[in-house]
Amino acid sequence: MRESGAITATILQLLKKSVKAGMTTKDLDIIAEREAKSLGAKPAFKGYNGFPGSVCISINDQIVHGIPGKRIIENGDIVSFDFGVIVGGFYSDSAITVPVGEVSALAQNLIAATEGSLMAGIARAHAGARLGDVSSAVQNYAENLGFSVIREYTGHGVGRDLHEDPLVPNFGVAGRGLELKNGMTLAIEPMLATGTWKTKVGADHWLVSTLDGGLSAHFEHTICVRNGEAEILTKINE
Ligand code: MG
Ligand code: MG
Repeated sequence: MRESGAITATILQLLKKSVKAGMTTKDLDIIAEREAKSLGAKPAFKGYNGFPGSVCISINDQIVHGIPGKRIIENGDIVSFDFGVIVGGFYSDSAITVPVGEVSALAQNLIAATEGSLMAGIARAHAGARLGDVSSAVQNYAENLGFSVIREYTGHGVGRDLHEDPLVPNFGVAGRGLELKNGMTLAIEPMLATGTWKTKVGADHWLVSTLDGGLSAHFEHTICVRNGEAEILTKINE
């Protein structure tokens, strides 16, 4: 899991460094796929339920599951990369949202709030805590800053499969839900929006966007509960 997580983190860092106005989302998908191959890892999403890309790339009002293609990235876009690999049979899953060029103050605040809400959730993911403690920490952090949390898509267990039990919602009530124990591996992944948390699915049956066209950002880490605390397995070492 640790090796898988490190490769996922390395490739997300490469995508963050590589993304520039004028590139297509397919260009970035090719970079990620090539790097995964050279590191001996298999992209986890390619072919998953028929998904055609290696990376989910979602721009501005797009939340998740964007298929890489001909869309050209522009100055001022915020670009979410959701990526994972399989190494030795173990999955890891992580996401970041990156500003391209000059983005609005609202977009900057949204990105910071989304990453902050992820870290707030991870801070509560210790042995003995309940899933609701994690969910409510994410929700409170986001809503206190004036953003909404997407409710129709959630985090999840991860390990031998990309998506395992339990679901890890980004909203909830502290003290409720499954008790976290040492050895559990979870993908915690808040998606925040500037407007409504309601979503719509595109004509390709994959792309999820905000219903009102508001901006959305997405951060995700694969964590392991170990020695009582959350260890981030997909941490980007800058
Ligand atoms: Mg993901
Ligand atoms: Mg995930």
